[in-house]
Amino acid sequence: MDHYRRSALNYFAANPIDRLTLKRRDEKWLAEQLENPDACFIPVWDSKQLFAEESAPQPVLLARAEMGELLKTAETIVFLGRNETTTYFALDLPRNSSGFADDLARFGQFHDLKRFGALLEPSQAALLAYARALTHWHRRHRFCGDCGGPTVSVDGGHRRVCTNPQCGEQHFPRTDPAIITLVHSGERCLLGRQSVWPQGFFSAIAGFVEPGESLEDAVVREIFEETGIRVSEVQYHSSQPWPFPSSIMLGFTAVAIDENIRLMDHELEDARWFSRKDFQDRLEEGVLRLPSSFSIAFRLIEDWYNAADLTPLRTFLDSIPGYQHLTILR
Ligand SMILES: [Zn+2]
Repeated sequence: MDHYRRSALNYFAANPIDRLTLKRRDEKWLAEQLENPDACFIPVWDSKQLFAEESAPQPVLLARAEMGELLKTAETIVFLGRNETTTYFALDLPRNSSGFADDLARFGQFHDLKRFGALLEPSQAALLAYARALTHWHRRHRFCGDCGGPTVSVDGGHRRVCTNPQCGEQHFPRTDPAIITLVHSGERCLLGRQSVWPQGFFSAIAGFVEPGESLEDAVVREIFEETGIRVSEVQYHSSQPWPFPSSIMLGFTAVAIDENIRLMDHELEDARWFSRKDFQDRLEEGVLRLPSSFSIAFRLIEDWYNAADLTPLRTFLDSIPGYQHLTILR
């Protein structure tokens, strides 16, 4: 499988809309789209989004006719894109006000996407993730990082410009790259856990890419800092948007040069080598829990596990009485 198809399988990545990047600067066209009866609006408040029915959550996307005064209330309106039938916008509502929440209560309640992520249809989850990431960026860039002057949103919310005439700096949406790596050695793979995670939960090794560093350098450095393991043969796997709040997870595999674990920076509470047999035994015993199936961490573990001629990992997990995929996000 190529990288494009691998990434498309990652949750939050399956966004079906055309971002229409060449249309963003056309203010007349954008204004027409805002009034278009097929326009659809995703309200965002304090990085939370509107959901109906907690037992079977459905994201609430408002039609133009349902908007009332919300368009005037929004601090930022972001053009997200269009599919065959609908134009999508995100609305960032004022964090210091909740008056509109009463008006919207007939549709649903505001919740963090983290809470329902795995329960949503993938294309909807991807659309909400996109809206969450962009509205978060706007909220953190209301002032110019160069001169401190106020900035304003332009290009349908895909650029901010400093209003200080002596400055005029442009600011573009940012994504923070983070690497996550499945390290393996022969028949075993390396997983770690942080002390704040639920008991028995282990995941692949992750960390942020630093400025002036290649992705591969970040893989080698993070794994050594967290586990003391030196690696080689760093291979790209796939990527996953991770808007909590503004990352993209870049998945890799790597081969360990040695197997002597030392928790160098103490970011991890524990790190261990697991064989596929260890996985089977400990999962069945209930003393090991894997990352949620909608995380790239699970995809990395799954692809490694399934490379052997065994029952596929998801099928195996489904066969364990009472095993529940964790919904915790990291
Ligand atoms: Zn400025």
